[in-house]
Amino acid sequence: MQYWDPRVEEMPAADLRKVQYKLLKSLVCRLYSFSPFYHDRMKEQKVHPDDIRELSDIGKLPFMFKRDLRDNYPNRIFTASQDELVRYHVSSGTTGKPTVVGYTQRDLDLWTSSLARALTSIGLGRGDVIQVSYGYGLFTGGLGVHYGAERIGATVLPTSVGNTERQIELMQDLNVTAIACTPSYLLHIGEVAEKMGFDIKKDSCLKTGILGAEPWTEGMRTRIENWLGIKAYDIYGTSELSGPMFTECAQQTGFHIWSDIAYAEIIDPKTGEALEAGEKGELTITMLQKEALPMIRYRIGDIASIDEDVCPCGRTSPRINRIQGRVDDMLIIRGINVFPSQVEYTLMSIPEVGQHFQIVVERSGALDDMLIRVELTKKSFSDKITDLMKIRQSVEHRLRNALSVAVDVELVEPGSLPRFEGKSKKVIDKRVL
Ligand SMILES: [Zn+2]
Repeated sequence: MQYWDPRVEEMPAADLRKVQYKLLKSLVCRLYSFSPFYHDRMKEQKVHPDDIRELSDIGKLPFMFKRDLRDNYPNRIFTASQDELVRYHVSSGTTGKPTVVGYTQRDLDLWTSSLARALTSIGLGRGDVIQVSYGYGLFTGGLGVHYGAERIGATVLPTSVGNTERQIELMQDLNVTAIACTPSYLLHIGEVAEKMGFDIKKDSCLKTGILGAEPWTEGMRTRIENWLGIKAYDIYGTSELSGPMFTECAQQTGFHIWSDIAYAEIIDPKTGEALEAGEKGELTITMLQKEALPMIRYRIGDIASIDEDVCPCGRTSPRINRIQGRVDDMLIIRGINVFPSQVEYTLMSIPEVGQHFQIVVERSGALDDMLIRVELTKKSFSDKITDLMKIRQSVEHRLRNALSVAVDVELVEPGSLPRFEGKSKKVIDKRVL
């Protein structure tokens, strides 16, 4: 069994909690004394550092939201001075002002070692060639994985996104063993490779996919693994916390949240109450050691559950089970909550269906209508019209059962829906346009 930092990764859970409590206490004391933002927030909430006497007292502290970063644009919450900052990342966001995250050298070191542990846990290391096909630049994906991969002694191929044919040639010529990108982009790479007459499964050394930056399902994992002959691992993080920081281990049962770096809670998004292990709710993270932009109880908006049992890999840190979607991705169709990931989950279990789909929501009169465009596989698309009608009925029926809401399904030709190099856009909600 391979560990990057066995001292922490195998530390008994009770000891980890002691470490977390110490880090939390000193973080709260520091912020109360030196950060006007946190000082005011804690006063409003009527909580003082003296009230933090054990780890569970974290529940007394106020939450933080993305809007806090926007309202304090660009850097009014930073707790490091300009001469301590060594990097900025900026996330554009779809609405409002962007958010700016500053990093001290120690922040970058911690981010890098988080990924070094993660990449080691999926069996990567010296001798591997890791193609980083996440965007480089203001987005954290590219540079984040890049430094983590270099830290473990792997060779990095920093292709960034785009120029897909060249990416595939390099993958072949330089014997790439792992690729980091969005699952949507890997699907696109696989299709372009097929068109170029290059079979990734047979003709490449690729064995590992490090896939994230958008929610994806177990069904999609199975598809990608069987099609490309690789193991596909979920990677997680968000720019406000640092960037991509955590992956699943080789067991593929949720990503490990390193306890000395982050404290994870699952809360009820409506009431803010902490939920028990295994219950589904909103992921909330406290970064225990960040210097430039500390985050206490940051409401990420992703829906997930936590597993606190020791992982079969031997690592003692808790795992977050696959992200089910974002609170703000949730569609309300005729009063029913629908997550795009539920649609993907259902579609991926139907063999006639290809990897791509699109959800279109409209309002006709007072009612919402949901149309799901579904690409078929090449094989099923060539079937007779009567067969296609049967497939359509069966897809509609299964979606209706899974979502508890009526849907219309349109079957479309393989290759006809848009492809994405970065994060995919699977939902077109015409009600809000
Ligand atoms: Zn594990």
